[in-house]
Amino acid sequence: MRYISTRGKSPAVPFQDVLLRGLAPDGGLYLPDDWPQLRIKQLKSKLGDNPDYRSLAVEVIWPFVEGSMEKSDLSQLVARAYSSFNADDIVPLKRIRNDFWIAELFHGPTLAFKDIALQLVGELFQFQLQKNSEKITIVGATSGDTGSAAIEACRDRESMDIFILHPHGRTSEVQRRQMTSVTSKNVFNIAIQGNFDDCQDLVKAMFADEKFREQINMSAVNSINWARVMAQIVYYWWVSIQLTDGKPVNFCVPSGNFGNVFAGYGAYLMGLPVERFLVASNTNDVLDRFFRTGQMQLRDVAPTFSPSMDIQISSNFERLLFEIFERDGVRVEETLQKLRSSGIFSIGEEALKGLGEKWASSKVNDQETLETIAKVSNELGYLIDPHTAVGYLTADRYTKDLEHPVVTLATAHPSKFPDAVQQACGILPELPSHLDDLYERKEFYEILPNDEQIVKSYILEQRNS
Ligand SMILES: *Cc1c(COP(=O)(O)O)cnc(C)c1O
Repeated sequence: MRYISTRGKSPAVPFQDVLLRGLAPDGGLYLPDDWPQLRIKQLKSKLGDNPDYRSLAVEVIWPFVEGSMEKSDLSQLVARAYSSFNADDIVPLKRIRNDFWIAELFHGPTLAFKDIALQLVGELFQFQLQKNSEKITIVGATSGDTGSAAIEACRDRESMDIFILHPHGRTSEVQRRQMTSVTSKNVFNIAIQGNFDDCQDLVKAMFADEKFREQINMSAVNSINWARVMAQIVYYWWVSIQLTDGKPVNFCVPSGNFGNVFAGYGAYLMGLPVERFLVASNTNDVLDRFFRTGQMQLRDVAPTFSPSMDIQISSNFERLLFEIFERDGVRVEETLQKLRSSGIFSIGEEALKGLGEKWASSKVNDQETLETIAKVSNELGYLIDPHTAVGYLTADRYTKDLEHPVVTLATAHPSKFPDAVQQACGILPELPSHLDDLYERKEFYEILPNDEQIVKSYILEQRNS
């Protein structure tokens, strides 16, 4: 298996290069040069009618990494990645009403779906770095969820140090404590006196400084990394294998950077039968507007109750563009250039009609988010977090038009966003037992000014090189 860039100007490379590099040299994102094909019936005859999540993960991921490791290595990495999950079946599938289901993606160490990808990516990084006798320094910025998931994925690994910048005083308490209460000696939390954009700008500036970047062998685990998408493809097969022998399913996905729902589309391109992908947006509705009009137009980001979806530029969207432009990298590049220069592009009537056969979307505001949390709690006795609520209402709006089962992906545990849940329905969701002393744990972080030189010096001094 080799990987090509969505901008079409980088040489095809094997998995191990894609893993550590993240972005392709031409600025594009990596995709497999050909989607491997699987069938539900074939997986069931190989693994039995009720396969466990880990065995299925190995079968689904294997064609993407073949040539860069042994299958037994992959099995080991998968087993270790999911050993920290709080649910035996990793992603429990719950029936909520007739043909309306919820796939709980939040049983990992930090209670959000990002753990499913990042726990495996941490193992893959460690495996590859040890093979290369290499050490890296991961530097990242977070507004909340990604930072804690990345820290949990990298903690206590000898081949890496991780520095995460968060805006001082601007993350939720649960999010901050999940990062700062980690005691591992390769984990460093920096609270920047500034906002999230300042943190992100600092990381970009450090990446742009070639001398510094090489000095610390700087790396990232951001959401454009192919390996994250790859790990997420697994649960789309996992859900379908439990619901059907080969009939289509609908997936409703609360979306921000578009990595999660694109993984579903990847599963579809591998042969998974899907009736529709329902893309759920909060009031930052750039994706909903795109799927309705074929036009992508950037606007300002407004804060909502579902902060992990408060995004204007969905970085993984480039991968969908590449597929709908029939893998024409030049056209992808031109289109994104247009978006950067004028803040808008359009894919045209024809392409929009094609998209409508597989995609639909809707937008859910804060008021509707709270009402949905309350309604689901009151009527069904099931607590959902604000991100999942955006998905739930979107799925609800479309169900009557759909023939096959509808599965909403629950992307965070309700206790990760206790304030919004309590405001919505009066119930304060409890943290799972592995985190029940989170509010008593000692925190470790360094408060630094929004100053590139000071942050760089701190990283150089602290890292375990
Ligand atoms: C990151 C995140 C999302 C958005 O997922 P994308 O892959 O960026 O579209 C949705 N919900 C939660 C809880 C998240 O952490």
